[in-house]
Amino acid sequence: MSARDQQFIFRLDQCLNTKKSFASSCRQCIQLCPQGAINEKKEVTPSKCTDCGVCMAVCPSDGFVDRAINELQEHIFDADPMVLNCPAAQPEGYEINCIGMLDRDAWSTLMLLSAQKEVRIITGDCAACQDVKACAIGVETLKDLLSHWPLPNSMTIDILPWDEKTPQASSAKKAPSQSSQSHNKHSPNPTSRHKPSLGERREKKKLTDIGKERLRSILPSVIDEEPHTIPLTRTWLLEALSQVPDQKIPFPTLKISDHCTTCAICVRICPQHALTQHTCEAPEDNEIAQAARLEAAESSAADVTAPTDVTAPADVTAPADVTAPADVIAPADVIVPVDATASADVIVPVDATAPADVIVPVDVTASANVIVPVDVTVVSLIYQAARCSHCQRCIKVCGPKAITMETIELDSRFLQGKILIHEQTARFCTSCSRRIYHKLNPCLCVDCAKEDPKLKGVLY
Ligand code: SF4
Ligand code: SF4
Ligand code: SF4
Repeated sequence: MSARDQQFIFRLDQCLNTKKSFASSCRQCIQLCPQGAINEKKEVTPSKCTDCGVCMAVCPSDGFVDRAINELQEHIFDADPMVLNCPAAQPEGYEINCIGMLDRDAWSTLMLLSAQKEVRIITGDCAACQDVKACAIGVETLKDLLSHWPLPNSMTIDILPWDEKTPQASSAKKAPSQSSQSHNKHSPNPTSRHKPSLGERREKKKLTDIGKERLRSILPSVIDEEPHTIPLTRTWLLEALSQVPDQKIPFPTLKISDHCTTCAICVRICPQHALTQHTCEAPEDNEIAQAARLEAAESSAADVTAPTDVTAPADVTAPADVTAPADVIAPADVIVPVDATASADVIVPVDATAPADVIVPVDVTASANVIVPVDVTVVSLIYQAARCSHCQRCIKVCGPKAITMETIELDSRFLQGKILIHEQTARFCTSCSRRIYHKLNPCLCVDCAKEDPKLKGVLY
């Protein structure tokens, strides 16, 4: 088999290691390929590869992708009933290579769709299949999802091994399930009438590839695909979830504790641009800023040497890329905790109709209610769950171990929106006003602390 015949192709531009290099690079595909067919350069040995698709399922970033992914997506969303079968099962639906190619987002999509239409998956005799290990990986992913899923699952999985001589006899060995009966009731069913086999789809895909290559040689900019940030199966999930706006799904989500020093290393290491940091002067109604202003007022009364303006010049010490892109402060899709009484680990969405200035900085000195004329800089960390590939790089690099990942229930707005996961006031050296990234006292930068030998071992 030549490399061109493989169903799952490697896209270097999509690999997390290409998007952003990292000391502990991703090796999921290499480690989890059941056949050991992928080497360190992500080259696939065709004689070992069985096209099970686990490389696509375990890749957090579409580094490996099914050549026919668009056709599979079309079938999943358009077919009613939606039936998938593996090559070793009765060919009653759209043939996928193995259920090992389904990742968590794909399973979540199927479960959501199963509330609206019959969703049925037919497997062969997995124990006798060469891809039994791949199948087990898919099953484990589904089991983990089901352990968090709050609703009864209406998706059915049948085992109907393919019997080439007497396919109907083999099928008849199993009493028809409820889903099979309802399947027969659906008529006409244009999708189930046309069931191209895997071989037919590969041939068709080969012709398409040849056509694309010819077109690419003439008009490269027309045909080249842009690398994308939201994984393909995540877009399926977003689509399925948008059809049921009130439905919540279990989704692994970042949480940040008060140990955060706002160093923004997590922002810079994220290969998916799923984290951004936003720094601004605090709006006067910001509770964190109000507390900081009170504290500043008390300390300025007690210590006349304390600076009255703790805001350092924006470009003095802040890392170059910690400022969030302009669209982060776009009000319509920013999600912020609006209820101060909400528990710390519950993320509350802002109403889309919330005032436009929710996180837009205002001039605090203009308000008569400000206790002291002290500017307070608030730093916010904003998370876009839809982009997160759950690679855990941010967790690994966070010095104070402030980041954890927990599975919580999210609805469509949270999954598609921007979530404020952390907010605190910035700290500045009380001697030179430089921004500092520690929570120790006294509030000095290392250079200023070095002037006091007593602080050796404390701050430097
Ligand atoms: S699993 Fe995906 S992101 Fe990770 S190394 Fe393989 S191709 Fe790259
Ligand atoms: S969560 Fe950790 S890495 Fe991210 S800004 Fe806070 S301290 Fe830095
Ligand atoms: S786990 Fe962290 S580093 Fe990885 S994509 Fe998600 S936010 Fe980015």
